[in-house]
Amino acid sequence: MTLLRSWVDTANSAETPFPLNNLPYGVFSTDASPATCGVAIGDKILDCQAAEQSGLLTLPGGALLDRGVWNPVMAAGPAVWTQVREQLTALLAAHSDVQAVVEPLLVTMSEARLHMPFAVAEYTDFYAGRHHATNVGTMFRGAENALPPNWLHLPIGYNGRASSVVVSGTDVRRPWGQIKGPNEAVPRFAPCARFDLELELGAIVGQPSSGPITVAQADAHLFGYVLLNDWSARDIQAWEYQPLGPFQAKATATTISPWIVPKAALEPFRCDTPDREAPLLDHLKDAGPMLYDIALEVALTPQGGKISTLAQTNYREMYYSSAQQLAHHTTSGCPMRVGDLLGSGTISGPEATQRGSLLELSWGGKEPLTLEDGTKRSFLEDGDMVTLRGAARGDGYTIGFGDCRGTVLPASDTPFGPA
Ligand code: CA
Repeated sequence: MTLLRSWVDTANSAETPFPLNNLPYGVFSTDASPATCGVAIGDKILDCQAAEQSGLLTLPGGALLDRGVWNPVMAAGPAVWTQVREQLTALLAAHSDVQAVVEPLLVTMSEARLHMPFAVAEYTDFYAGRHHATNVGTMFRGAENALPPNWLHLPIGYNGRASSVVVSGTDVRRPWGQIKGPNEAVPRFAPCARFDLELELGAIVGQPSSGPITVAQADAHLFGYVLLNDWSARDIQAWEYQPLGPFQAKATATTISPWIVPKAALEPFRCDTPDREAPLLDHLKDAGPMLYDIALEVALTPQGGKISTLAQTNYREMYYSSAQQLAHHTTSGCPMRVGDLLGSGTISGPEATQRGSLLELSWGGKEPLTLEDGTKRSFLEDGDMVTLRGAARGDGYTIGFGDCRGTVLPASDTPFGPA
């Protein structure tokens, strides 16, 4: 696959995250328009609602793009996903004979505000990156017992909160919570002192299911992917998590990038999961290459300071694919809904510079990082802005996600009052 050329000039570079090859789905507003479905192309957004209303996009079943979220398109199914993409490609391709009527429907991206691209039905987060699980397990249980006994056999997950999933650019207030340090006799209620980020990819379920589905079916049900920062209160987590797993430590916020990258745009970047140390049971066996070669990075910008890259890794480091996670999720008969969001789990690589959380990067706070401005970090400080970026690089083009960004606000002065 090479760069597909568009009549939108800025879409025709190797560096733009939004060439014609990508066409990611988002929701934007401007001073003139409320939340509207759009597709990114170069430095512009195509107003898809207007394109549908004017008959440039014609989808089966009537209007799908007038709801200010992409869920109706997801619900319409994979055949419609293909049609949307084919029609958008025809509208925006170089030498399109409709350029003159499409051009007035473009909005300059820098003048638009971006919103949640879909209504999150439910949110589940996994713990499916081997390097992350090994690092965390080594810190808490020692290298010998780093991976729990179930880890090589199933993707560990927990049911999270859809209500606290927010779009990039939303500030995140440091939570209060119940904390008990290792040398404290009793717990106390205090602001989180070990607030952290987690670099993940979010998979969006586009089709419902009402019983167990196979890994291949699960892959077909996935609509697209976003970057995901699973903000984590480590001190709250350490006290609360046994025996049922994280609860309030993960409930403050989960930030996603603003553009849903369609699965179709990532097809050229598919790659295999790693070799299996223990064979997977049949219902979780790989049904083809279901990871993607997506370069990922985490950066931190202190308030008023310089940006520092904290880590660089790749989605292909995962042990379980989103399709395997979705298939596992349904084994109980658990119904899945259009708009379900699945967090991959923290994505770390084997090297120290490839770790996707501050917990790992500072090794539990024992080895603080030095930022570009010379200051140190073990965990996030107030005013820190965290930025996740992702890029799949093809022959002369890039598939990007848009930044996944959030800034830490100070904890409220009191547990129940404003700051
Ligand atoms: Ca996580």
